[in-house]
Amino acid sequence: MKEEEIRKRDVFNKYLELVQKDVESFFDFSTFKEGDCPACGNSEFIAEFEKIGFKYVSCKNCETLYVNPRPAFETLNIFYSKSPSTSFWVNEFFKPVAEGRREKIFRPRAEFISKFFSVNKEMVVGDIGAGFGLFLEELKKIVPENRFIAIEPSSEMADICSSKGLDVECTCLEDMKGMEEKFDILTTFELLEHLFEPASFFKKAYSILKPGGYLFLTTLNGKGFDILSLWEKSKSIAPPHHLNFFNVDSVSNLLKNTGFDIVEASTPGKLDWDIVEGMIRNEGIQLGRFWDLVSFKGTDNCKKELQEWIVNNNLSSHMRVVARKPMERFNA
Ligand SMILES: [Zn+2]
Repeated sequence: MKEEEIRKRDVFNKYLELVQKDVESFFDFSTFKEGDCPACGNSEFIAEFEKIGFKYVSCKNCETLYVNPRPAFETLNIFYSKSPSTSFWVNEFFKPVAEGRREKIFRPRAEFISKFFSVNKEMVVGDIGAGFGLFLEELKKIVPENRFIAIEPSSEMADICSSKGLDVECTCLEDMKGMEEKFDILTTFELLEHLFEPASFFKKAYSILKPGGYLFLTTLNGKGFDILSLWEKSKSIAPPHHLNFFNVDSVSNLLKNTGFDIVEASTPGKLDWDIVEGMIRNEGIQLGRFWDLVSFKGTDNCKKELQEWIVNNNLSSHMRVVARKPMERFNA
């Protein structure tokens, strides 16, 4: 997989310019509030850098990178529902690459998750932040005899999910009512980095899963190759959207503290090297002679092996966690 197949460089750069304009009209930095680490609750941090007015810090305890101080939950909701950059993202950025993403991202994901289905019983699956419903569509093709619920707060995207024959809960997870212990499987892709309060999100997810139910999530790993290499120049470090960069240990610990067991925590990314090489070759980023050599003279095989090494050592910026709600709970 190549970066260009899932996001076009020029369109993405135009989108980032629009975001910068929206930040000026939607956010008042004087109202931002200081908070503790979203992963472990520690209050001590190291100031790292500032990007379009947002300050990023890393937790002294668990090394999660996060925005601090943070905008209010309501401010973020207004930004997501009303900003021009959001509609640009939906219409100009996402739609043209949607089919590429279906094939390269959503179908392999659906194949991975379909292995967790039982053969003889109907299971209830919820995709939190379902977007256009591409993932659930792909999953439904593989395991059709199940119930699929798209949990999506944007009414525009919820309507698209309905039109595809999916059941829809048009709400954000935190506000969803009457679904306690209803789901066998919950999925949430690239959402955790956006959340104002990840701990309450996980609590809610735990409460709506049946005992023995699974939570699958993907998110950005703040201790991954392209993010650590490019740091504040990384386009993944994109405020106001990306507020939290967990790492394998910090996300696992938060899930365990919520009550989950960790089934798998890995970084099966495919794009780390391609993203770094794109920045060196196209945007004049300097990471030193060695990485110039790999970028300009490295063979395809050299780059392929580098990406495999990144993944095999859990060093990719794309992280996947499978967590399970225990079968029985013992109350003290
Ligand atoms: Zn922490």
